[in-house]
Amino acid sequence: MKIGFIGLGHMGGPMAKNLVAAGHELKVFDLVPAAVQSLVDAGATAVVTAAEAASEVEVLISMLPASQHVEGLYLGDTGLLGAIDASTLVIDSSTIAPESARKVAAAAAERGITMIDAPVSGGTAGAAAGTLTFIVGGSSEALERARPVLEKMGKNIFHAGDSGAGQVAKICNNMLLAVLMAGSAEAIQLGVANGLDPKVLSDIMQKSSGRNWALELYNPYPGVMESVPSSNGYQGGFGVDLMAKDLGLAMEAALQTRSSTPMGALARSLYALHSGQGKGALDFSSIQQLFSDL
Ligand code: NAD
Repeated sequence: MKIGFIGLGHMGGPMAKNLVAAGHELKVFDLVPAAVQSLVDAGATAVVTAAEAASEVEVLISMLPASQHVEGLYLGDTGLLGAIDASTLVIDSSTIAPESARKVAAAAAERGITMIDAPVSGGTAGAAAGTLTFIVGGSSEALERARPVLEKMGKNIFHAGDSGAGQVAKICNNMLLAVLMAGSAEAIQLGVANGLDPKVLSDIMQKSSGRNWALELYNPYPGVMESVPSSNGYQGGFGVDLMAKDLGLAMEAALQTRSSTPMGALARSLYALHSGQGKGALDFSSIQQLFSDL
């Protein structure tokens, strides 16, 4: 299949590599030349504009940081929607505001183009291993068209509902993830301050009722787990500023529906504080540093 891929960062890069490895013909574009080169080395073809990546492809995938990047790419007089053939299926896997996803999908539909939101969960390790969870918003027919491509990058594919629903589910998940990560960091530090070894405590909690994804796969305390950002100076992974963005999206969704989200609000504040201390580019598990003098 001919596929265009725009946004080759921590997530988009390994996702695109899995599509190349599966035998698809990829045209790739990113603003960062090194990100493009890495895909060319893997067998993809570099193009110099987003419009080139979007032309003469059966599927176009975008994996950008936030709502403004996605709206900026697709909408407006110079937006990509004007350059995409109606036969091309558009999949946006970025985590963005549900309203943005609906707005771009509606603008696509006006031009006869089918677009789904398909944000992902599973982190950079899941992106590299091709085991991501895709959370899709859009029609069932569009999801079935996307499925063969999504299956090359992920293991679990969920249909959350209509356009934007994938984003709502993703935002709820990430709010819970932030709460669990901050809570795990706080608990580990409490144990360390009271004389426990962080690895021994983590092993205990992982097999006890405090068990959660952060403890099992993404321990925030340096040296407890190999091959996670906390043991690599909190480099790579999922940025603090991206988590702060997702918590902001959760708070907006809560405001719109008068939902009470006290734990999410506290997590948003903690991540804002951490980012304000110059930690925005570190992995989100570095929230451990708020509690520990590392
Ligand atoms: P990233 O910042 O590493 O990558 C984003 C890429 O988009 C960068 O390479 C950037 O140069 C490129 N880009 C930005 N604007 C562009 C444009 N107009 N045209 C072409 N390229 C452009 O971010 P990431 O960690 O890969 O995350 C991408 C999305 O996935 C975000 O919405 C994030 O919230 C979500 N996400 C990330 C993770 C994770 O673990 N990193 C997990 C799940 C979801």
